[in-house]
Amino acid sequence: MTHIILKRHCFSIFFCAIAALSIISCARTESQYFESMNTFMKVQCYGKHSAEAVSAAQKRITELETLLSVTKPESDIYRLNNAPSYPVSVSEETAHLISFSLDIAEKTGGAFNPCLYPVTSLWGFTQKNFRVPSAQEIASALPLTDFRRVKVSGTSLSAEKGMMLDMGAVGKGFAGDEAIKIMRKQGIRSALLDLGGNIQTIGGKPDGSPWSIGIKNPFGAEPLGTVSARDEAVITSGGYERYFTGDDGRRYIHIFDGRTGFPVANEVVSATAVAGSGVLCDALSTSLFVMGAEKAAGFWRENPGFEFIIVIADKKLFLSGGLEARFTLNPDCADIEISIVRRNG
Ligand code: AMP
Ligand code: MG
Repeated sequence: MTHIILKRHCFSIFFCAIAALSIISCARTESQYFESMNTFMKVQCYGKHSAEAVSAAQKRITELETLLSVTKPESDIYRLNNAPSYPVSVSEETAHLISFSLDIAEKTGGAFNPCLYPVTSLWGFTQKNFRVPSAQEIASALPLTDFRRVKVSGTSLSAEKGMMLDMGAVGKGFAGDEAIKIMRKQGIRSALLDLGGNIQTIGGKPDGSPWSIGIKNPFGAEPLGTVSARDEAVITSGGYERYFTGDDGRRYIHIFDGRTGFPVANEVVSATAVAGSGVLCDALSTSLFVMGAEKAAGFWRENPGFEFIIVIADKKLFLSGGLEARFTLNPDCADIEISIVRRNG
């Protein structure tokens, strides 16, 4: 009798070991680091076909960079910006992204504006030849930033001479969405994409728990806190990402106020958007930054479908209600004062 029980026991241990081994061999991990869209990217992927999936993701992101770059002469955006006449025919992806951007520009009352390049290029942000342009230069460039003058019809695009588009605030989010589409088609159910600080996810962690996404601390090295996320993007626009200090001693950041043609100079230090769509989060993080905390809260109340975190200069953090249970403050950042923004607040 003891002998039989012992034998059964050995069998179950054997089968458990086989099962564990096959789980381990299925749960393959693949990570790929590369440079694209002027930033470092990391795609981390779990499960069968991970190797193929990360390569396909990188390929897709590189393709989109070639379409959307503002500096590569072969890109759709460069051709548009340097067109001798309109209409100009572009790829479906570019037409789609421009239509989306114009729609967000309309919805945000121009806080988001994909047509600011005539102004931003004066400040030297693309070529890193930073300078403060004269009031005259800015005044001449501003009329060329009216996004309502850009018309998209199918894949054909018209604008006015001198206008120039820039997908810098949405390109990475869009590329993340496209990479995720491809990875899902390859059967991937768990992945983490870090596209230059833009975090996008497929599913949760391989063990089924949600991803824990660190929010950069503008005041220190350790993350400010974490947001739990599953099948979502967590995308931050930060004034600390790219800036220069002018001869006047002022700091000029890379996010612009289209009304003035000057870099945004409000109280916001960083704005994070959380939603299912990467391109929406990318557009909204930039928009919320430009709006400032109060307007951003009003915009969130009127527009469901995303959550936000805004950090302002005096160490205050505004958290939209939907993140209340999903945000964990780093205990080392106890000096940050959190205000929850409610729908009916
Ligand atoms: P992000 O880091 O996603 O907030 O995008 C910032 C980039 O978008 C800048 O480097 C510019 O290329 C472009 N940009 C700056 N200000 C705006 C704005 N108000 N609306 C749309 N794009 C902008
Ligand atoms: Mg953005």
